[in-house]
Amino acid sequence: MGNIKDYKIATLGSHTALQILKGAKDEGFETICICEKGKGKPYQSYEVADQIIMVDSFKDYFTIEDQLIKQNAIIVPHGSFVAYIGPSKMMEVKAMHYGTKAILEWESDRMKERQWLLSANIKLPKVFKTPEEIDCPVIVKFHGAHGGKGYFIANSAKEFYERYEVYKGKEGHDKYAIQEYVVGVPVYTHYFYSPLTGELEVMGFDKRYESNADSIGRIAAKDQVDVDIRTTYTITGNVPLVVRESLLPEIFEMGQRVVEASKKLVKGGLFGPFCLEGIIDPELNYSVFEISARIVAGTNPYINGSPYTWLKYNEPMSTGRRLARDIKMAIEQDRLSEVLG
Ligand code: AMP
Ligand code: AMP
Repeated sequence: MGNIKDYKIATLGSHTALQILKGAKDEGFETICICEKGKGKPYQSYEVADQIIMVDSFKDYFTIEDQLIKQNAIIVPHGSFVAYIGPSKMMEVKAMHYGTKAILEWESDRMKERQWLLSANIKLPKVFKTPEEIDCPVIVKFHGAHGGKGYFIANSAKEFYERYEVYKGKEGHDKYAIQEYVVGVPVYTHYFYSPLTGELEVMGFDKRYESNADSIGRIAAKDQVDVDIRTTYTITGNVPLVVRESLLPEIFEMGQRVVEASKKLVKGGLFGPFCLEGIIDPELNYSVFEISARIVAGTNPYINGSPYTWLKYNEPMSTGRRLARDIKMAIEQDRLSEVLG
C-alpha cells in the first residue's frame, strides 16, 4: 500500500490555491505553493503552504519543475494554470499532474467544445456563422477576450455592423463568435467525477460577480443611456447559490452525460472537478455556454463545504479537499496512475 507521506501536493499561488492546499493539508499531505514575487502573503498568512517556491512569473514554471519532480510532487492544475503556462506548453509538463491533459484541447477550442457538449446532448445557445443570419438577440464574443471585455449585444445584422465599427481593425478583434443571447439567470454547476469510485458528485453552484454587468442595474436606465455605458464581464468574485431542488435530477444527468461523452474523445476521459457554465431561462431550460475541465474559482465560497457536500460527507468538504482525497485513495490503493494524465 502506497503512503501519502511519499508525495506532496503543489499548485500555483492564485485562483483556487488556498482551498487546494488547505484541502491537501486536511487530508494529511505536505504542500508546495509556487508564488510570484510579492504575491506570497495570503499563502503564508493562512498557513496552507509547507513550502513556498518563488518565481518572477508563473511563465517560469519550467525552470523550477525539477524541484517538484525531485520531491514527488503532484500538481493540481486550476482554472488559470493553463492561462499561465500556455495551452501549447501544457503537454510538456513532466511533473505528476492530476487530471487528463488531453481533454484541454477539447475545452479550449470553441468548435471542439461545442462538438463535445452536443454529443452529450447538452442544450447550447444557437450560434450564427455570419451576422446576416442573426434573427434574435445575440452576444458577440471576441476570441481570446479576457473576462468578457468588449463583448457586445446586437439584435440584427444592421446593429451588429454598427456596433462592430468601434472594434474594426483593432488587434484581436478580427475573430469573433456570434451566440444567441439567452435571457435568464447565470448558474455555474460544480461537479466532481472520481475515476476510482466511478461516481459523479454535484459539489455546489455559484454565480459570478462581474464588473460592470452586475452594477449597471444600480443606476437608472436613462443614466445608462446618457453616459453610454457598455457592458463588460470582468470577473471580480463569486457568489454562492443553491438551485431549485427539482432541477437537480437533470443537473446530475447532464454531468453524467458530459463524462460519458468525454470517454469517447480522449483516453481516460474527463475526471476530477469540472464545471458547466450556463443560463437557466424562465422555462427552466439550462443552456450551457462553456465547460471548464478543471476546478473553478466558483468553488471558493465553499472552503468549509457547500450545502450539497454537507449532505454527502457530514464533514467540511471543499472541492480542493475532495481532490486531495481522490489522490490519497489512489495512492493507498496503488492506483495513482489512474488519476494522473
Ligand atoms: P488570476 O490568477 O486571478 O489573474 O486569474 C487568472 C485567470 O483565471 C483569469 O484570466 C480568469 O479567466 C480566471 N479566473 C480567476 N478568478 C476567477 C473567478 N473567480 N471566476 C472565474 N474565473 C476566474
Ligand atoms: P464568458 O466569457 O463566456 O464566461 O462570458 C462572460 C459572461 O457573459 C457570462 O458570465 C454570462 O453572464 C454572459 N454570457 C456569456 N454567454 C452568454 C449567452 N449565450 N447568453 C447570455 N449571457 C451570456
